[in-house]
Amino acid sequence: MAKLIDGKAIAAEIRAEIAAEAREFQEKNGVAPGLAVIIVGENPASQVYVRNKHRACEEVGFRSFGYELPADTDEEALLALIDKLNHDKAVHGILVQLPLPAHLDEEKVLLAISPEKDVDAFHPYNVGRILIGNYDFLPCTPAGVMELLARSGIEIAGKECVVVGRSNIVGKPQALLLLEKNGTVTVCHSRTKDLAAVCRRADILVCAIGKPEFFTAEYVKKGAVVIDVGMNRRPADGKLCGDVDFAAVEPIAAAITPVPGGVGPMTITMLLKNTFTAARKQGAK
Ligand code: NDP
Repeated sequence: MAKLIDGKAIAAEIRAEIAAEAREFQEKNGVAPGLAVIIVGENPASQVYVRNKHRACEEVGFRSFGYELPADTDEEALLALIDKLNHDKAVHGILVQLPLPAHLDEEKVLLAISPEKDVDAFHPYNVGRILIGNYDFLPCTPAGVMELLARSGIEIAGKECVVVGRSNIVGKPQALLLLEKNGTVTVCHSRTKDLAAVCRRADILVCAIGKPEFFTAEYVKKGAVVIDVGMNRRPADGKLCGDVDFAAVEPIAAAITPVPGGVGPMTITMLLKNTFTAARKQGAK
């Protein structure tokens, strides 16, 4: 039976550490770390994510500033708000919830966020710094995976790591981070030939493709560590599930993350961590 990597418990542990440090920070600086979250339009999934981010800030004693803009907000107004927040000393981190409505240029909007307040680490400046291994912020989901591995005592150096998925927010940065920790990294995608055979080489398999329960037993080597980043609805019952067929893979793996309760709770936790880093970097102690 695999060891269950309990993302909920690990996230709670990190949030408690952040809350304690935030109290100290506030005493020294007279301000709490502050996160501004901008949402444009009324995408229900985005609204849930944004609510969770505000709640997480409250839980650790951060200030959160919410900006809910109508779906027809023009680019000029959005850029003006970002510019205002870039100069606001109470705001240490700025996040624009994606996706944006189609008439807004996502790239232009993300470029407008000051790199020192870019707590999602999506700005090309921060992406470049991650590539050369000299960074302040890491994208939240792959950073969360690295924390799960570290806090579960899973060694990466010298291991065969296979990352399936090559998106800018998960797969690519995940591969870089595993490489930084001296893993031997293979990145797979929709054109990879004989995916199951490549995955079976993995000591550490990270699944991030967005296909419900796609990874069955034939993709997993006995004793592998399996990290399931996927967040999907199972077609049969509409319930939340990962990219991994948990029931089939769990008996083979040495360790595995469940969905829900694995990678998911780590993502917002890493956002809090980035916001704290930003606050410290912006002159506070
Ligand atoms: P994207 O859709 O941006 O990328 C999916 C990647 O998977 C692409 O690189 C694609 O390949 C690859 N892929 C798709 N189908 C296959 C296949 N059959 N075989 C091999 N590779 C395949 O997704 P994201 O990276 O944004 O998200 C991935 C999953 O992670 C989703 O379920 C998402 O909901 C979840 N997620 C979870 C988060 C969390 O907090 N837990 C946060 C972010 C995402 P190609 O490039 O060739 O098209």
